[in-house]
Amino acid sequence: MAKTDEALRENLLLSQKGGYDRITPDDLARMEDYVPGYRAFIDAGKTERDCVQYARALAEKQGFKPFIRGMALKPGDRVYLINRGKAALFAVIGAEPLSAGMNIVAAHIDAPRIDLKPRPLYEDNGLAYFKTHYYGGIKKYQWPSVSLELRGVIALSDGRVIDVCVGADPVDPVLYITDLLPHMASDQYKKTLAEAIPAESLNVLVGSRPYPEDEGGDRVKLNILKLLNDKYGVTEADFQSAELTLVPCFNSREAGLDRSFIAAYGHDDRVCAYPALTALFEAGAPKRTCLCVLADKEEIGSEGVTGMQSRFFDTFVEDLCAAQGALLRECFENSLCLSCDVCMAFDPNFAEVSDKRNCAVINGGVGVVKYTGSRGKAGASDASAELVARVRALLEKNDVIWQMAPMGKVDQGGGGTVAMYMANRNIDTLDAGVPVLSMHAPVELVSKLDLYMTHKACLAVYAG
Ligand code: MN
Ligand code: MN
Repeated sequence: MAKTDEALRENLLLSQKGGYDRITPDDLARMEDYVPGYRAFIDAGKTERDCVQYARALAEKQGFKPFIRGMALKPGDRVYLINRGKAALFAVIGAEPLSAGMNIVAAHIDAPRIDLKPRPLYEDNGLAYFKTHYYGGIKKYQWPSVSLELRGVIALSDGRVIDVCVGADPVDPVLYITDLLPHMASDQYKKTLAEAIPAESLNVLVGSRPYPEDEGGDRVKLNILKLLNDKYGVTEADFQSAELTLVPCFNSREAGLDRSFIAAYGHDDRVCAYPALTALFEAGAPKRTCLCVLADKEEIGSEGVTGMQSRFFDTFVEDLCAAQGALLRECFENSLCLSCDVCMAFDPNFAEVSDKRNCAVINGGVGVVKYTGSRGKAGASDASAELVARVRALLEKNDVIWQMAPMGKVDQGGGGTVAMYMANRNIDTLDAGVPVLSMHAPVELVSKLDLYMTHKACLAVYAG
């Protein structure tokens, strides 16, 4: 029988034990207690606007007050600021001055989806449709035949903003993008997955019943407009100043016969946004000021006034600094940011895209990502070894189960997060988050254990 030196092995080798063999009984119980709150958040938060409203309501229950420029701030104060209804910042003021830096956790609350075009409604062969323009990196073939609900706002020229939500209530109708029947798909089958469902064919069927008291053209379209006018008081012209979006019409479910997963639309990145927020609630009276960022527009490059590149963030932190006479640049250079975004989980069904020695696994805990990007780390902020060591020490000190989580094989593809925009501000920034299966699909899967460990990671960073 071969001899093994167990002590030497334990000493020198990186442990390969899975999360379920390492998690403590206490954490296991807390993990199960944590899940329902997250599920309620993701079921309510199908768009970034929904997430902001829900997060604000949670925060107000936790004593957070709207931030007003010029207000006095003392340690322990809890303030928040909403950016145009689509992004939000939540801060707990620390005992140390802001010149000593902040502990930041930044996540995003937008998710891939199907947006309506500004002139969406048309009729073709007695059927009424909405034209769409997808948002974020979707695989277009996944969206036909999926129950969709309509959400968003219609802003009127008189200043009113109408909230639209059709499909969430079980008595509501739902909407569909149709797919081609297999009997007639011989040409479609020959196309690549990328070409099989062209973006301009992602038209959503919205009706077939003609308006009865009219003998002109497009009576089905007219009937739909009449319904919308009756319900919301809007006309076709009002679509031009609307943000209407189609998202999958189903709530989260426990998944797997052992219930170890949560299946839901939009885990990316609400599965990190929720821990970022709830860990802040538990921050108590922190040493350093703690800041939770819920950003919009990450899925399309973090551009725009509500994205992570927006000066909105700098302005808010500058306003906090001004309350203490601190300098923004000094605050940034001493700050730590966990860019809390999902990472790719190894999928045995698609093992060929992963380097199996360098990938995050389900139940391996929160995935720490030193660099994202593609083609030789292009587009990555590539955190320093010293920063990874600092965060690693925090995670180990707080019994967080974690793993390194590089994304797939080199030159296979790639991705990005808000990390580089935080790092560009001279803030030490490291990516970490929940490993996801089926990322960007209408239904994504995460493990409960990884969700809970991400919550613990956020707690560790705030306590810093
Ligand atoms: Mn993401
Ligand atoms: Mn994403």
